[in-house]
Amino acid sequence: MEDPDLLFAEVMLPLHLPQTYTYRVPRDLAAEVQVGARVVVQFGRQRLYSGLVRSLHHDKPQWPSKPLVGLLDPAPIVTLRQMEFWEWMARYYMCCPGDVMAIALPAALRLESESAVSISPEWDGELSSLNRHEQLIVQLLSQHPSMKVADLGRAISVAKIMPVIRGMIERQIVVMNEELRERFRPRKSAYVTLPPALRDEAALKAAMDELERRHRTKQIDVLMQFLTASHFGREAVAKRSLPQGSPLDTLVKNGLLAVEERVESRLDAPAASPASAADISLSPQQQQAFDLIANAPQPVALLHGVTASGKTEVYIKLIDRVVRDGGQALLLLPEIALTTQVISRLRRYFGPLVGVYHSRFGASQRAEVWQRTMATGQGRFQVLLGARSALLLPFSDLRLVIVDEEHDTSYKQQDPAPRYQARDAAIKLAAMWGARTVLGSATPSVESAFNARSGRYALASLTQRYGGFEMPQVVTVDLKAERQQGRLRGSFSTTLLDEIGAALKQRRQVILFQNRRGFSQHLECDDCHAVPQCVNCDVSLVYHKATHSLRCHYCGYNIPVPEQCPQCHSTHLRMVGIGTERIEEDLQIFFPDARVARMDLDSTTQKNQYIELLNDFQQRKIDILVGTQMVTKGLDFDNVGVVGIVSADSLINYPNFRSFERAFQQMTQVSGRAGRRGEGGKVFIQTFNPQHQVIRDVVDADYQALFDEQIQERRIFRYPPFYRLIQITLKHRDAQLVDAAADWLAAALKGPFATRVMGPEYPMVSRVRGLYLKVISLRFAQGEPVAEAKRLILQIADDLHKVDGWSTVALHFDVDPY
Ligand code: ADP
Ligand code: ZN
Ligand code: ZN
Repeated sequence: MEDPDLLFAEVMLPLHLPQTYTYRVPRDLAAEVQVGARVVVQFGRQRLYSGLVRSLHHDKPQWPSKPLVGLLDPAPIVTLRQMEFWEWMARYYMCCPGDVMAIALPAALRLESESAVSISPEWDGELSSLNRHEQLIVQLLSQHPSMKVADLGRAISVAKIMPVIRGMIERQIVVMNEELRERFRPRKSAYVTLPPALRDEAALKAAMDELERRHRTKQIDVLMQFLTASHFGREAVAKRSLPQGSPLDTLVKNGLLAVEERVESRLDAPAASPASAADISLSPQQQQAFDLIANAPQPVALLHGVTASGKTEVYIKLIDRVVRDGGQALLLLPEIALTTQVISRLRRYFGPLVGVYHSRFGASQRAEVWQRTMATGQGRFQVLLGARSALLLPFSDLRLVIVDEEHDTSYKQQDPAPRYQARDAAIKLAAMWGARTVLGSATPSVESAFNARSGRYALASLTQRYGGFEMPQVVTVDLKAERQQGRLRGSFSTTLLDEIGAALKQRRQVILFQNRRGFSQHLECDDCHAVPQCVNCDVSLVYHKATHSLRCHYCGYNIPVPEQCPQCHSTHLRMVGIGTERIEEDLQIFFPDARVARMDLDSTTQKNQYIELLNDFQQRKIDILVGTQMVTKGLDFDNVGVVGIVSADSLINYPNFRSFERAFQQMTQVSGRAGRRGEGGKVFIQTFNPQHQVIRDVVDADYQALFDEQIQERRIFRYPPFYRLIQITLKHRDAQLVDAAADWLAAALKGPFATRVMGPEYPMVSRVRGLYLKVISLRFAQGEPVAEAKRLILQIADDLHKVDGWSTVALHFDVDPY
């Protein structure tokens, strides 16, 4: 019923709720409240949330509605189009708009009554500018350093507390603790300095003479290196930049050098000499690609360019055009590790117009990028770089979306919902803006290549490396033959070892790729063949030498390494399978003088460790970099002579319909790190199966062959791009209950969907964190009405939850699973 005197707001809450909720707008707020602004509402008994106004109307709902408790923002903080995009995402990926909102809004904008706040370390303590409420809050917070908003609310009226806190956050008087944790987690590392006693030139000389007299040549060597790097002791030098080992340790022990932990400066490096994109001159091939993309009738273009062909330069030119027209461009990158190099390249051209958005950044930084993306005037960002979550930013004028390394699996969010594929969502977002999308890759996904083949996407190709550099030479190393000839050393063939040695001798660098972290895959009892398992998950524990523990890679459960077999008490425990940690250690034995570093999830837990690793590698402070797929991605180094793929077979033998495609992509990508400039590079693929078709395709650099094989398989076995998959995972603590529920659900789905339903079956890992899993998949031929099907599936899932005792079964929907 219309009532022009009453105003109602539809509010989107950051919760798993299928729809918006209607609240009455109190008269005193009616003039100010706007779509896209945050409002404080009560939801549930006592909890206050900040929700977003989705729409305003005069339709009086049937039920009495609660009033808005307060208004947080005088102006919108999200745009209408953005909310529409979130809603599309929720529909397509079968979750709730609130799920999307919860991951989209930076923590600093997600104020709720349960949020804890503290006085900001950046506040100057000036009380005179505070009003009475604010003074009261500061007083309370100085007695209790951290308090929940709800508790502070008792001091003044609960209804008013959130707007007051918001104003104080904005003026940096208080901070949300979530933000505090991120912002002030100090990044420390060891620095070497000259002890005060030696800062005197004579004292230093005396110490040197003493070392010389005792023929401590290695220590002198290290000391000299330190003195050069530190401008004769005037500055501190990162410990890792000096040769590690006993000479350094002895110098420290004897007080000739000092080591201290220091907080590192932010690596937000200032742009090197600024440059103009107009100064880039594209090669004829790059120019052709640029023209094709810029003028394509299709809204989406695939840029298929071999590694080091200069795709980034083409992106920069495309972005430049948009920026000069006053629009915004979004460049999505799969990994932060990769972004650091690209960020500095883009900053050179677009300087202060570049905003970087990533979940690893602190909340305040993210909130700032958010605001400057939405802004229309001064300080507006026009070039946004980020990982997949950057899609959810409040763009004000988006005209170009580029998805770099579009094949990369990290574009797919696994958990929590929305389980979205950022590349696909990017195409949708661009379409909503009428913007162009460019997908770039040296190894396009089968889906994108198929779309380009069929003419749905425009196709631009770069077939040569920029500057005329050769593609790396790729060869296989037959591990079977090496074993027969007694040429295997642990996981290394003598062939690969010799090549690494030769490269090091020429002062060139080496990258080794192994897709397993940890030291060995697992421990196995030689007598009874038992393998220690995780207590929470259905997987074996991985041996980590650095922590001398067995760890679960699914839930983090870990135990000290047992001395005896837990089953039969035998002491003959054997390590099986080799991980990055072991490779790193073996290399030290084979190449004692080489500086070896490892890049994987374990070695990069701290915020900027990977940046340091990459910087060190770039500056040639590391000779050999060992890593998981982190090292396969887009890195541009100029001195890599040898790339080794330690175990190609483990890449191929992975039970997933994408495994061959992925194996090809990973091997080709890591190969692409070799010889990008200068004297060329060689790639060695160690395998027991050198005749395997995928390996042949990598050696021949034959993407076309790989594509043809894969597309045929996909057609025959009914996989994407010919079919769409929807995967439903059921989870519960009780194995029998989950079995029964899965059987019920599969039967119920077979009603409308018949043979499109597959399963239920146990997934590869059928218990994770104490929950038992069952999976049901549905497949729909391209062109079937999936939107309708999704609605029906959700209805049936609702019915499942109504069955007695089954309301606690967790259901996950994964549309287009990877
Ligand atoms: P890709 O992303 O295709 O692997 P990059 O964009 O990293 O390749 O390019 C490889 C190298 O060649 C980079 O160092 C890049 O700066 C250089 N390069 C590519 N195109 C040009 C160009 N038109 N002018 C100058 N340098 C270029
Ligand atoms: Zn045993
Ligand atoms: Zn586990």
